[in-house]
Amino acid sequence: MAKQKKFILQENEIPTQWYNIQADMKNKPLPPLNPATKEPLKAEDLYPIFAQECCSQELDQEHQWIDIPEPVLDKYKYYRATPLVRAYELEKALDTPAHIYFKNESVNPLGSHKVNSALPQCYYCKEEGVTNVTTETGAGQWGAALSYAAKVFGLEAAVYQVKLSLQQKPYRSMMMRTFGAAVVGSPSMSTRAGKNIITRDPNHPGSLGTAISEAIELATTTPNCKYTLGSVLNHVSLHQSIIGLEAEKQMEMAGEYPDTIIACFGGGSNFGGLAFPFMRHNLLDGKDTEFIAAEPASCPKLTRGEFRYDFGDEAGYTPLLPMYTLGHDFKPANIHAGGLRYHGAGTIVSQLIKDGMMHGVDIPQLESFDAGMLFARTEGIIPAPESCHAIAATIREAIRCKEAGEEKVILFNLSGHGLIDMTAYDSYINGDLHNYTLEDSVIQENLANVPEV
Ligand SMILES: *Cc1c(COP(=O)(O)O)cnc(C)c1O
Repeated sequence: MAKQKKFILQENEIPTQWYNIQADMKNKPLPPLNPATKEPLKAEDLYPIFAQECCSQELDQEHQWIDIPEPVLDKYKYYRATPLVRAYELEKALDTPAHIYFKNESVNPLGSHKVNSALPQCYYCKEEGVTNVTTETGAGQWGAALSYAAKVFGLEAAVYQVKLSLQQKPYRSMMMRTFGAAVVGSPSMSTRAGKNIITRDPNHPGSLGTAISEAIELATTTPNCKYTLGSVLNHVSLHQSIIGLEAEKQMEMAGEYPDTIIACFGGGSNFGGLAFPFMRHNLLDGKDTEFIAAEPASCPKLTRGEFRYDFGDEAGYTPLLPMYTLGHDFKPANIHAGGLRYHGAGTIVSQLIKDGMMHGVDIPQLESFDAGMLFARTEGIIPAPESCHAIAATIREAIRCKEAGEEKVILFNLSGHGLIDMTAYDSYINGDLHNYTLEDSVIQENLANVPEV
C-alpha cells in the first residue's frame, strides 16, 4: 500500500469546541494576585484590560468544553484544518525506527499558530462593543496575527513594536500595515510612559517592557480600547487547543497514537494547544503519553527557573502569576528565536510541571538551527527559529529510539515557518551564530527581585 504522507480533515470535521484542561486538572492552577493587595483576582478585575469573555475563560476551572463562536469558526475555515504530516524523509535521514508526525501550523496567511487566538480575541472585543485593540510585539508574529484578525472583525489595531526589532526586521511591520494596523516603534511619543522613557534616554532601543507599558496605557486611557496578548495566558492556550483536537482526529486517521508529544515553548500557547487535548487522556483515561516542552538553553525557565508568584512583564504592570520564572527582569540573550525569549511559563503549564505531567528540555541555539536545516532539506519546509527547538527535541528522541530499537510514535508542532526569518538562517550558514551559556548566579540575581507574597 502506498504510504500516506498527509492526513487532512474536511471543513465539517473541524472541532466546534475548544478544550479547557483546567476543568480536568487534579490540582488547579493557583489564582493570579493583585500586586498591591495580594488578594486573588476575579474576572471583573481584568475587565478594564481584556475582553470580558477572555477574562472569564482565563479563570474558568469548571467547563471542560467551550463553544467556538460561529463567526470564529467561519474564519478558522480560511486556513484550517491544518495538515498532519508524517515526516518520512526526516525519519530516513535519522535512520530511526520512530514514526515522526508533525502538525503543520505554518500554513496560514500569517505563518504561525498565533492567529488561532487573535481571531477569537478580536471577535469577543467586537461583540462587546470595543472599537480598538492594542498590543505589543517583539519580532512581530503576534502583531501580524492581531492586525489581520482586527481587520477581519472591523477593529482598529495599534501595535507597539520594540523599536530596534522594527528597524532590524521590517517585514512583519509591513505585513501589519498591509492589514491596516498602525505600527508604532516603542518607546514612542504617543504615550506618557513612552515620553518619559525618551526624555530620560532619547536613544532607547525599546524592549518588550517598554512596548507593554505603552500598549496597556493606551488600552486603559482610551475609551473602547482593549489590550490583547498572544501567549502565556490561559485563554490563549484554550483557543490554541484547536491544534491538538484536530491532531487527535488526524492521528486516528493514521491509525496511531502518540507516545511522545513535543512543542517549542515561549509562553506555552502552541505547546498547550497541541498537548492539552492529548493530556486529557493521561488525566482521564490512563494513557501515558510523554510531554516535552523545548525551550532555548539561554532562557530556561522550565528547567532552571523557580515556581514563584511573579509579574508577567518586565515593568511589573500585570497581576502576579504563579509560574516557573527566571524573574521578570531577566534579560535573555538576543537569540533568533524571538518568540521564546520570555521569562516565565503560563500558570497551567507551571502547575502541570509541578505535578509531573510534563517536562522541559533545553536546546542550545546551534542545535536548534542544525535541526531546522535538516528539516528544511528533508521535508522541504523552512521552519521558524522557534519551531526549530521542537524539531531538535524530536531529533533527540528519534535518535534515542534508534539506540534503544524502539518504534515510538512522536508528534511535534511546527508552530510556524521561517520565511521572514531568513537573516537568521543566513547568519547560521555564514557561521556567525553561537551558543550562550547562562550562569546560575545570573538566574539567582534575577530571582532575588521577584516579589515575596
Ligand atoms: C510566538 C511563537 C512561539 C512561542 O510562543 P508560545 O506561546 O510558546 O507558543 C513559537 N513559535 C512561533 C512560530 C511563534 O510565532
